[in-house]
Amino acid sequence: MDLAYSAEEEEFRARLRAWLAAVLPTLPPRPDPLDWPARRAYDCGWQRRLHDAGYADVHWDASPTQRLIFLEETELAGAPYVGANFVGLLHAGPTIAAEGTAAQRERWLPPVLRGDEVWCQGFSEPEAGSDLASLRTKAVRDGDEYVVSGQKIWTSHAEVADWCELLVRTDPTAPKHRGISWLAMPMDAPGVTVRPLRTLAGSTEFAEMFLDEVRIPVGNRVGDENDGWRVTMVTLSFERGTAFVGEVVACRRLLGELARAARENGTWDDPVLRRRLGRLSAEFQALWRLTQANVSEAQATGGVPGAGGSVFKLHYSHARQELYEAAATVLGPDALDLGRDWTLDRLSSLSYTIAAGTSQIQRNIVAERILGLPKGR
Ligand SMILES: Cc1cc2nc3c(=O)[nH]c(=O)nc-3n(C[C@H](O)[C@H](O)[C@H](O)COP(=O)(O)OP(=O)(O)OC[C@H]3O[C@@H](n4cnc5c(N)ncnc54)[C@H](O)[C@@H]3O)c2cc1C
Repeated sequence: MDLAYSAEEEEFRARLRAWLAAVLPTLPPRPDPLDWPARRAYDCGWQRRLHDAGYADVHWDASPTQRLIFLEETELAGAPYVGANFVGLLHAGPTIAAEGTAAQRERWLPPVLRGDEVWCQGFSEPEAGSDLASLRTKAVRDGDEYVVSGQKIWTSHAEVADWCELLVRTDPTAPKHRGISWLAMPMDAPGVTVRPLRTLAGSTEFAEMFLDEVRIPVGNRVGDENDGWRVTMVTLSFERGTAFVGEVVACRRLLGELARAARENGTWDDPVLRRRLGRLSAEFQALWRLTQANVSEAQATGGVPGAGGSVFKLHYSHARQELYEAAATVLGPDALDLGRDWTLDRLSSLSYTIAAGTSQIQRNIVAERILGLPKGR
């Protein structure tokens, strides 16, 4: 494992830092966190700036180390995160880049990089979450089209998306992992109904999606028919490997803010709280080193992150929840004020141990793939 940065990487860092210092003061004010159309416009505007400055494809084409530097520097500078472009940039885009045909890459990737088109992820169903391979949304071939019917749930950003990376069952008679295909579905296709779901924090960030005989061209299938499970594993390994690294930097910044707030309001005098913040600081330091180790491993193995991403996701999601619990102690009654970012972030942190694979599932992956323990029943 080599954690040192080369001269070229340090130069990349310096150039990026200078660009961020020049461009961030010119950004418009951030939109209301509950207004998704406004958030889409803001996030896409930021993506367009990254594109025009030559940083748009950092999540795909740059080396894992450059990606790490990019995420570290943008977060330290307080730049916007990928936001509504999460699926396009970190799930569907890398999957199409790795598994799509030349024509598919040409059609779908440039608009994602320019911030022109937003994607959502239609994987989970009411009866298929952790056991994703049991999904039932069916696609029946009719000439050059699939006719798709079924229901998806927890589809993040569906309300503002142009495209959906959709998992469908194309062979109901095959073993469950072998009868699945990966399709790109236009969200404005007849038969698609999106019903937003409201979170505890009041945000309609995800939705139920009902599909009633939606016609999708066969040419929108990425990978072979019935090979969608393997294609999906490419997507999920990206998600668990590098999708969260910017957030560790964010946590370390938030912890600094919390320690300052504690000093100001006197809660710092409580030795139990100080120990708690100290332990969290060590935890995020360790997570940052783990991130570097995972990136270094991905670099050595050709870019696709391995099961180390599950170790990271497991620890990170619990540590971040603990950070917000500590924040509630520091902020006292203010922690209940829904007008504060801290409060909204604390509420949404409850989802971290569920989204992108629950903690139990991450433990199963660690047990089987890293520790070599037998598969659970
Ligand atoms: C904020 C957020 C955003 C999301 N965005 C999307 C999205 O954009 N697109 C999408 O498709 N999905 C999305 N999801 C859905 C997410 O992927 C699922 O919620 C997750 O996979 C868990 O599935 P489930 O909710 O059906 O729970 P279940 O799978 O029903 O699990 C229920 C409980 O059983 C446990 N469990 C299940 N199987 C096992 C096992 N084998 N061993 C031990 N314990 C087990 C789980 O850990 C959990 O505690 C999102 C979820 C959240 C919270």
